[in-house]
Amino acid sequence: MIIQLWSIAALNDHNYRYKFLSFCVCKSDPSIDTTTMNNVATKVAVVGSGISGAVCASALAKNGVSVTLFESARGPGGRMSQRREMSEDGKELFFDHGAPFFSVSNTDVLRVAHEWESKGLVAEWKENFGSFDCISKKFLDIEQEAPNRKYVGLPGMNSICKALCNETGVESKFGVGIGRLEWLDDEKWSLTGLDGQNLGCFNGVVVSDKSIASPRFTDVTGRPPPLDLSLAPELASKLQDIPVSPCFALMLAFAEPLSSIPVKGFSFKNSEILSWSHCDSRKPGRSSTSERWVLHSTANYARGVIAQTGLQKPSSATLTKVAEELFQEFQSSGLNIPRPFFMKAHRWGSAFPTASIAREEKCLWDGKKRLAICGDFCVSPNVEGAILSGMAAASKLTETLSCL
Ligand SMILES: Cc1cc2nc3c(=O)[nH]c(=O)nc-3n(C[C@H](O)[C@H](O)[C@H](O)COP(=O)(O)OP(=O)(O)OC[C@H]3O[C@@H](n4cnc5c(N)ncnc54)[C@H](O)[C@@H]3O)c2cc1C
Repeated sequence: MIIQLWSIAALNDHNYRYKFLSFCVCKSDPSIDTTTMNNVATKVAVVGSGISGAVCASALAKNGVSVTLFESARGPGGRMSQRREMSEDGKELFFDHGAPFFSVSNTDVLRVAHEWESKGLVAEWKENFGSFDCISKKFLDIEQEAPNRKYVGLPGMNSICKALCNETGVESKFGVGIGRLEWLDDEKWSLTGLDGQNLGCFNGVVVSDKSIASPRFTDVTGRPPPLDLSLAPELASKLQDIPVSPCFALMLAFAEPLSSIPVKGFSFKNSEILSWSHCDSRKPGRSSTSERWVLHSTANYARGVIAQTGLQKPSSATLTKVAEELFQEFQSSGLNIPRPFFMKAHRWGSAFPTASIAREEKCLWDGKKRLAICGDFCVSPNVEGAILSGMAAASKLTETLSCL
């Protein structure tokens, strides 16, 4: 009883939580000398540095868990990344080529958004938004006041993930793709990199990308998926083939402002090709030395291109052709769009999941193997859904690890 009370009090304090979890690990592993365990914490691997993985990693670290985060890309953010490009004349250009902003309605997510706002990681983007009808060639529904606040990362959408990946207790490894997850006889996970490198053993794993167990991983990389679903049979049916919508993003930089456009973000009505457009350089904290716009294609247009070119990384010829087609549609709006000095397309093969696989649970969870699967595909296809899912995964693991 005394021990139980001490445990509850200690779990409310970061340092004590750390020591408590270390103590639990020692007790469960006879090979570890408990007298030298003061600085050894429970180890968890988080796969992916998008917002769900980054939120989860940070929450686990705050609870005293030692987190190693693996990200196959060069930097953090996933679909909240920021792209750095160079123009032909050597100008550095930044684009939020994934999510342009996010909105929040859930109170738990609002609380973290306010915390990020107070730390200067996000700001509200206050502009007029609207929609443009490609048949009448007129702007409709120009909102003077948006119904939901639009938040953007400062100075780029990736700023939140970057800060979370750098928090104390999180060791982040970029450019390290996970190729294999194995469950060992001593009840730990062993991780291997895509290059075959042994990445160590962990008491628990959080995977924040749906491709980890999907045939899509094989279609894109030609390799078997990292997670063999026979290891998590209860999750298998949900994870097998999650439907997605693709999207192409077009990054454009102009020497002069597009003065014929009365709003800074708008959706397209009656276009087969374009769905959305926003002025990236008019977000708070961005450089305004050039006028930068990002356009999104419709899912149907992207599906048509992928049907012809396949799921593998698109060639530069494909991306050049897509860039021209999207730009021509923009120009045909009659909005008096000049030729940009920079133009490049990017493909998001899985931009938006079209199913939500965990609903109320918010993440998939195998308690026996301490395996959590999180991401927007568990809740809703947006930043808020991904944050909720990352929080749920951290809470499942923290609860279970504290009882080891
Ligand atoms: C064009 C576009 C527009 C959008 N617009 C909006 C919007 O307006 N508002 C909004 O709220 N949301 C929007 N979204 C959706 C939003 O970006 C996502 O819902 C959210 O960012 C998903 O976060 P996540 O953590 O679930 O996944 P991701 O961001 O996809 O993170 C998964 C990470 O895992 C990494 N990874 C995958 N496999 C491995 C592996 N084997 N080893 C290591 N790392 C791996 C990936 O590289 C990636 O970084 C948009 C998305 C796109 C693409």
